[in-house]
Amino acid sequence: MFTDSAKVYIRSGNGGNGHVSFRRELYVPNGGPDGGDGGRGGDIIFEVDDGLNTLVDFRHVRKYAAENGEEGGKRRCHGADGKDLIVRVPEGTVVKDLETGKVITDMSGENRREVILKGGKGGLGNMHFATATMQVPKYAQPGQPGQELWVQLELKVIADVGLVGFPNVGKSTLLSRVSNARPKIANYHFTTLNPHLGVVNLGDGNSFVMADIPGLIEGASEGAGLGHEFLRHIERTKVLLHVVDAASVEGRDPIEDVHAIMDELSAYNPELLKLPQAIAANKLDAVYDEGADPLADLKKEFEPMGIPVFGISAVSGEGVNDLLYYLYDVIRKTDRTPKIFEKEFEIEYVGDRSLPYTVEKDEEGIYVVEGPRIEKMLGYTNLDSEKGFDFFQKFLKQSGILADLEKAGIQEGDTVRMYGLVFDYYK
Ligand code: GDP
Ligand code: MG
Repeated sequence: MFTDSAKVYIRSGNGGNGHVSFRRELYVPNGGPDGGDGGRGGDIIFEVDDGLNTLVDFRHVRKYAAENGEEGGKRRCHGADGKDLIVRVPEGTVVKDLETGKVITDMSGENRREVILKGGKGGLGNMHFATATMQVPKYAQPGQPGQELWVQLELKVIADVGLVGFPNVGKSTLLSRVSNARPKIANYHFTTLNPHLGVVNLGDGNSFVMADIPGLIEGASEGAGLGHEFLRHIERTKVLLHVVDAASVEGRDPIEDVHAIMDELSAYNPELLKLPQAIAANKLDAVYDEGADPLADLKKEFEPMGIPVFGISAVSGEGVNDLLYYLYDVIRKTDRTPKIFEKEFEIEYVGDRSLPYTVEKDEEGIYVVEGPRIEKMLGYTNLDSEKGFDFFQKFLKQSGILADLEKAGIQEGDTVRMYGLVFDYYK
């Protein structure tokens, strides 16, 4: 399985805060509360886009954030919802939590659209908080925060054809000639580390995926260099295409090369040789020796084993079409559907941050915190007990009060008052 992969950061929008305002009417000095609700934050939604077949776009843009909801307004105005963000991915993209490697979703088959991170809910405006005893509520509900997550995207593709062969035989040249892939073509022996994938289009909607599997060299089955990584890729292909330099431009013997690669494959996993195989005798345009007929020699050696040999020139294109139609025919007869990954990771939404409260600094420089449930909570919490005190500390943090105190400019040693409770602030 070839995995094209990318790491990206996603974030859903914050919910907008509820608003605090009071009706103003002529001759009515203090109208009732009329602060509207905040809008909800935008979701992060993954959607399959059939026009995409790689994850390369994600190498350029790594951060995806949906819009925040807007704060509610005066006169019961509802804040605008944040726009959702649609992240378009190719079919077969597996989304994993980066930290744990667990699967969040597999965008394959029927699963074409999924909300990955929900936006925060908007907070209720103060119009909801008027009671018989509290007719001028100065608090509204804060919006729920959005969620953020680093995810790993992996595109699983079962390549139909895997190209194998020694360096410099022309694998990259062939792939770039027949597909949309643009691998580096270089006349040197160091190959790129990732397999290159290309879609070969035969017209009329018939296409297949070809992969250049660089790095397969002698000793790979013993783990030399990156050998194992590449051999693992080969296990998932439907057809193996050996590419050899039939012109022996660098003095290689094409027949020996195919045997060497076969030995390497079977040493790693004998099952590999059961895959359908074919040989591309490449660089035929460069055969200058009048007496030599490398194509005939290869045919004589391998066709009795049931492995067809095609003479080609990846550079001129000669013979390439026959090869492609043959490969397509074999692929059509082989069926291997990619596996669908189960969900292993649930997004945990941040707990209740929906407590309405206000943080204000009074004339004496005391920070006053007020809100309906705060009073109630203080009523049943025994701050003299260690457990109660721990609970209270956690509450300050989780409710967002601590952050808001800091936003309001609180310093070490300043005083905070919450109903009957007065304490000094220390970090
Ligand atoms: P790879 O290492 O197998 O991917 O080989 P490359 O595709 O990078 O090619 C290695 C060299 O062989 C390059 O200089 C190519 O231009 C050359 N080459 C590839 N195919 C042909 C061909 O059909 N004829 C000739 N004459 N040269 C070729
Ligand atoms: Mg190459």
